[in-house]
Amino acid sequence: SSEKDAALSAAAPTADDAPTIFDKIINKEIPSKVVYEDAKALAFRDISPQAPTHIIIIPKVKDGLTRLAKAEERHIQVLGYLMYIAKVIAKQEGLEDGYRVVINDGPSGCQSVYHLHVHLLGGRQMNWPPG
Ligand code: C5P
Repeated sequence: SSEKDAALSAAAPTADDAPTIFDKIINKEIPSKVVYEDAKALAFRDISPQAPTHIIIIPKVKDGLTRLAKAEERHIQVLGYLMYIAKVIAKQEGLEDGYRVVINDGPSGCQSVYHLHVHLLGGRQMNWPPG
């Protein structure tokens, strides 16, 4: 039926929604240095650290959030949660003098992995403007 076709096409992942390396990290198919994990979020050390502390914080369920530009009202809770977890991990890492939280969006934002993620950087003096 056309109703069934519509439901199927709504469920089919678009190319943009394709699994990324972060799904493999979530599923423990490839190793990562996990620093925080709960039912909703996972945080691990960046494989190519740009600061003494460089942690990637991701939602376990992408729900279409390939990038910040795809955010919808239904994502507001998870977006706020990732910010809160960044603070929890910064404290856990002893970054009491401060730190930086970054979301790269799209080609001009230098995003390379299309599963929304927050970078937590610290342990050195950060500079402004960023590169
Ligand atoms: O914001 P962007 O998409 O560029 O960030 C992706 C980050 O994920 C990079 O900093 C990269 O080093 C990191 N990464 C990782 N482990 C992987 C693949 C990417 O930590 N296996």
